[in-house]
Amino acid sequence: MTHLTLPGPGEASEDKAALAARLAQLPAVDRLLARPALAELAARLGPALVKRAAQDELAAQRERLRADAAGATVPAPAALDAAIAARVDALAAPRLRRTINCTGTVIHTNLGRALLADEAIDAVTAAMRGYSALEFDLDGGGRGDRDDVVEQLLLDLTGAEAVTLVNNNAAAVVLGLAALSARKDVVISRGELIEIGGAFRLPDIMKTAGCRLHEVGTTNRTHPRDFDTALTELGARAGLVMKAHWSNYAITGFTAAVDDATLAQIAHQHGVPYLVDLGAGALIDLSRLGLPREPMPQEALAAGADVVTFSGDKLLGGPQCGILVGTRAAIARIKKHPLKRALRCSKLTLAALEATLRIYASAHRLPERLPVLALLTRSEADIRAACERVLPLFARYAGAGFTARIAPCASQIGSGSLPVERLASAAVVLAPATARGAGRAVEALARRLRALPVPVLGRISDNALWLDARTLLAADEATLAQQLALPSAPQATATASTATAA
Ligand SMILES: *Cc1c(COP(=O)(O)O)cnc(C)c1O
Repeated sequence: MTHLTLPGPGEASEDKAALAARLAQLPAVDRLLARPALAELAARLGPALVKRAAQDELAAQRERLRADAAGATVPAPAALDAAIAARVDALAAPRLRRTINCTGTVIHTNLGRALLADEAIDAVTAAMRGYSALEFDLDGGGRGDRDDVVEQLLLDLTGAEAVTLVNNNAAAVVLGLAALSARKDVVISRGELIEIGGAFRLPDIMKTAGCRLHEVGTTNRTHPRDFDTALTELGARAGLVMKAHWSNYAITGFTAAVDDATLAQIAHQHGVPYLVDLGAGALIDLSRLGLPREPMPQEALAAGADVVTFSGDKLLGGPQCGILVGTRAAIARIKKHPLKRALRCSKLTLAALEATLRIYASAHRLPERLPVLALLTRSEADIRAACERVLPLFARYAGAGFTARIAPCASQIGSGSLPVERLASAAVVLAPATARGAGRAVEALARRLRALPVPVLGRISDNALWLDARTLLAADEATLAQQLALPSAPQATATASTATAA
């Protein structure tokens, strides 16, 4: 209880008594809540939230009084009300905070991946406002299948015979494996036992799906005969041949992998299906847009894959979901599996995906209409121009201890898409003026930018903060102008951020 600094002889009891008197001056929570300003807040935002804010503020005040037993005084009622109101504001603010992405990574999993097209946003809004024929057959008047909302579009775009959807691609892989290979062996190249973002590790996914992992080949080289031999040995225990796209790494040098057509052929000779987990799965040939090529589901299907899985919110640029396309027989087995019901998508996802796929189907102005493609194809000149517009704001905000310049850099695509490729970009670079303590100064600046009302996120490299403007949106520039124009002297900022953090 007593956090008092050790009192000198004879002072102890006086200080203790003075502190106790000051602590007693702090009003009780119930009396605070009865005050008009706070009662009004409670009526609007709920008594529980205001009570929590009041308790937090009282605890902070007690702490302050104890820390400075001699000097600190109890704040005036109006100041206490204001401090509590500020806490109420912070508690009532959305937890899913908007952020300004200056990492340059377009498909950033931790920042929500793909930004949606306007058409998709409108479709989601409409689906939320009113009833929709989600699982209703308007012709027959009976029950429908929610996959039908996007089925025809996906069949046309990928050339598949059938499709089904779940909440994300990890779920699509689990479901595909469980439905096609439960209690059997999944044969896969040793070079493809991938881990994506920690939680998705293929060997664990297989266990979860009730399959046995049967790895063949070596880390760098796998040949057709490796699969053939394994399938012959396994006989009836073989359930599936699988390929997982190297999403977030590359194996280069002395390598060999088996192509889709050969793998599909070998699998089918042994009477088992062939499943490809593409991860990102671009629906169009990205090299047509000047981007590195990424495998497309339609190619794997044409090569003979029975099922291809890919994400809706990576290169496709739609909502988070997992898409399974494939043969009628394989998809029918998948749709019958009980996990399909447990993993099904919401109407919001379907509405957004349908609108996104319609843009692909139109084949009209894709890069302009799909934000993911717009950001990936953003020209270096355009990014540099954005840097020039915001450079003075950041320079002023960072203060005299920093130098600010514009430098070329390389953006990652993100989310396991095109892992090795980088896109030429430009960044505002904020570097401490002196080398001494530079690391800590950069960390502190990054923290200040994260503590802004709309947090700004960059990346630290070479003792400097790099703000890659590839992912800086037009609306973000206006926000930056507002929030970075605030007093920016280090002391002033420190006070401001303590105030918001308090
Ligand atoms: C990203 C990825 C996944 C996981 O997809 P989510 O949409 O994040 O669930 C699975 N496999 C591969 C190859 C991936 O790249």
